[in-house]
Amino acid sequence: MQSPKPHAAMFASPGMGHVIPVIELGKRLAGSHGFHVTIFVLEADAASAQSQFLNSPGCDATLVDVVSLPSPDISSLVDPSAFFAIKLLTMMRETIPTLRSKIAEMQHKPTALFVDLLGLDALRLGKEFNMLTYVFMASNARFLAVAMYFPTVEKDVKEEHIFKKKPLAIPGCEPLRFEDTLEPFLDPTDQLYQECVPFGLVFPTADGIIVNTWDTIEPKTLKSLQDPKLLGRIARVPVYPIGPLCRAVDPSKTNHPVLDWLNKQPTESVLYISFGSGGSLSAKQLTELAWGLELSQQRFVWVVRPPVDGSACSAYFSINSSEIQDGTPNYLPEDFVGRTHERGLLVPSWAPQAEILAHKAVGGFLTHCGWNSILESVVSGVPMIAWPLFSDQKMNATLLNEELGIAIRSKKVPSEGVISRVEIEALVRRIMVEGEGCMMRERVKKLRDTTTETSMSCDGGWAHESLSRVADECEHRLARARGLAFGA
Ligand code: UDP
Repeated sequence: MQSPKPHAAMFASPGMGHVIPVIELGKRLAGSHGFHVTIFVLEADAASAQSQFLNSPGCDATLVDVVSLPSPDISSLVDPSAFFAIKLLTMMRETIPTLRSKIAEMQHKPTALFVDLLGLDALRLGKEFNMLTYVFMASNARFLAVAMYFPTVEKDVKEEHIFKKKPLAIPGCEPLRFEDTLEPFLDPTDQLYQECVPFGLVFPTADGIIVNTWDTIEPKTLKSLQDPKLLGRIARVPVYPIGPLCRAVDPSKTNHPVLDWLNKQPTESVLYISFGSGGSLSAKQLTELAWGLELSQQRFVWVVRPPVDGSACSAYFSINSSEIQDGTPNYLPEDFVGRTHERGLLVPSWAPQAEILAHKAVGGFLTHCGWNSILESVVSGVPMIAWPLFSDQKMNATLLNEELGIAIRSKKVPSEGVISRVEIEALVRRIMVEGEGCMMRERVKKLRDTTTETSMSCDGGWAHESLSRVADECEHRLARARGLAFGA
């Protein structure tokens, strides 16, 4: 009799920045490690415009079962003006009873439950259903290190960092600069702090932590996370680097007007601009960006959204996907399209990003520094202009700019004020035409080559090896459960 496959249940937070990597992990567990995979995805309103993506050929989620769970109504639990992370955490928490019933109904109970960062509360279902549990960190090792270490720090050291703005020393890692600290960590009296900071203590209650990174991109932090005397002492459970986990794409096989347009442009001549699945700019910043692009005289593809003043992340919940008719949207400078249409293309709200970055015509990426966007840029060998908005993006920008030398950034952080058109023009020219951009392009291609040669290969690549260890644990758990069932 053929032995049954281990069954992985995965619980993804809303937002494509979470859903896409969870699906990719599911595809790898199914394709290379023989798992049966069920992915529970929350049908958040924000994702509706983007969710068609899950059924698109580029996503190819055919190896996995995707089950959508209804989005809970959190209007009586969370203030509409609350920070988006609070809303997402509450939605995930309120969905756990539905997840529990879905698992209880399954004929073949999952061997392991994989939850992402915002679903840590669901780890408690592990004991209930005798499942192994894994946290999947779709972001990087640095975020993981900071999240786990911060709640363990003495009160006075924390206060030195928060109130005196001193860098926070992290064992075996680069210190965390105050300017890069995640917003939830900055005000101990705020609900956001009280909700988010204790989560760092929950990671070690899982059986393992899977992180979307690899050692050439974050050597120091990963070493520290795995060292039993440093951060490994805090993690207490194995940390498995499995990155870069990105959608495999082939721009030549993708049907989209942007790709048709890119096919007509010279190699590495186009700057791609996007702020992730939900980032947005203020009206003033949008105007400066438009002028900066125009003044730079460079080619561009810009995924553009209407401005939102006062919040860079509200588009996660209410994407205004207004079509762009002929002409210039009324929130951009008058006749912007008329003046730039020969070398620029506007795409409203959402574009096939991984395919665009992989196209040979793209030579630079102005990015909000979401980790998935960064990985897609690295695997395509594209240097970046780092434009962090919130969350881990500021830490990511520092990693790209100061440690890896594959991105340039503005003099001040965009959240501290408007970046002028003159500075934007200079940034665009630096990355697209100047020697500095060429050097960064070489560097990012070298980094890309470290991923293609070793990480993916089935015979000894670290990503495969890490997931094989997870698969072995699941096989053992399954064999034990079967043994018990047959009275062995
Ligand atoms: N994305 C896309 N098209 C868009 C915007 C985003 O395909 O127009 C994808 C992008 O390729 C990435 C994900 O959405 O895989 C965004 O994740 P990231 O971690 O970069 O940022 P987040 O959206 O979580 O802020």
